[in-house]
Amino acid sequence: MKLDRLRQSFEELAKFTDEGEGINRLAYTETERNAREYMIRQFEDAGLTVRTDYAGNVIARREGMTAELPVVATGSHIDSVYAAGEFDGTAGVLVALEVMRSLEDENIKTEHSMEVIIFACEESSRFGASTLGSKAMSGRLDPAYTRSLTDRNGITLMQAFEENGLDLEEVHLAMRFQDEFKAFVELHIEQGPVLEKQNASIGVVSAIAAPVRFHVHVGGTADHSGTTPMDYRHDALLGGAEIALAVEQAALEELEYGTVGTVGVFSIKPGAMNVVPSATEMDVDIRGTNTESRHRVVSALEKAVKEVAEARGLDVWMDAISSEEPVQMDAGIVNEFKAVCEERGVKWLEMPSGAGHDAMNMAAFCPTGMIFVPSKDGLSHNPAEYTSMEELLEGAEVLRAFMLRQAKMI
Ligand SMILES: [Zn+2]
Repeated sequence: MKLDRLRQSFEELAKFTDEGEGINRLAYTETERNAREYMIRQFEDAGLTVRTDYAGNVIARREGMTAELPVVATGSHIDSVYAAGEFDGTAGVLVALEVMRSLEDENIKTEHSMEVIIFACEESSRFGASTLGSKAMSGRLDPAYTRSLTDRNGITLMQAFEENGLDLEEVHLAMRFQDEFKAFVELHIEQGPVLEKQNASIGVVSAIAAPVRFHVHVGGTADHSGTTPMDYRHDALLGGAEIALAVEQAALEELEYGTVGTVGVFSIKPGAMNVVPSATEMDVDIRGTNTESRHRVVSALEKAVKEVAEARGLDVWMDAISSEEPVQMDAGIVNEFKAVCEERGVKWLEMPSGAGHDAMNMAAFCPTGMIFVPSKDGLSHNPAEYTSMEELLEGAEVLRAFMLRQAKMI
């Protein structure tokens, strides 16, 4: 594989961006469509047959010797958040392109066909809904839900589909059959600091964490900050703060399971310097790959809600916003990635993925795995996101070796 060619791929794809800081290539925009068409040409030039499905997923296929065998697939996404970096999603697509080019260069034949999939609309930035392409492909997309989606300019997902020559009423036709796949694997940047800190090149993902989210309302009494003695107050901010600290404490006790808890939204009313806060609205995100561990943090939150309400005379209630189940990666694929890393003398770590990915949907559908390459300073969804070409090439070598094992090189 060729480092310069890989670097050039990143430079070329980065040119497809709307104005603003970093990369701005939102799902189903004209810019993203142009990037997709550019990628289609690259895969065709590498000898693959390319089609676009009913959800806008690009499927590039390298034929194996036995057409009826299930495919060994890899892929990721090229849409981005606002002010993104160059590597989130694109790493998995461009590394896969380099793998395919190298197989073509060396005229390598395999028993099974291989596919590289560019999933549509992985990021939730435009429509508030993530991984639409992989949900459609794995038959997990709710049609009523998709019809309700609108972007910040009032453009519906249905209109965006039309602009891309797609029909939202036909999106269910993007669903494929499970037995079409032997395996799906995704290479992605870690988006966290662990590989860099541990000086490891490859993260073999064991499971993808899923969030359970709550809205917590704390109701107190608005009182004059000068005339209300401390022991007569029902301060909604202080109640909320105690609940937030309880979430932190409970998650800290689950360090060994990697469960995390975050209060990412915290607002108070009325928000005046001379008024004791009367209400706090907070959104809590608790995620992990171990369901019991995650449940213990949720229980601690429930307990804190009760205790704070009692101790401070506040009106506190919580509502579930969403709850998704953690997804385990296929044990056979995890082991095979480890074996490939060992064989190549690459330092690897087994780790969970804290973020959601297309692999999460594919895992419910076919044997699925993921590997991570390092993210400098753990930065992601940020123009400063960075992974070196050397690290990406190492990822490419591991991905290539894995795919050749799975697809049975002849
Ligand atoms: Zn991504």
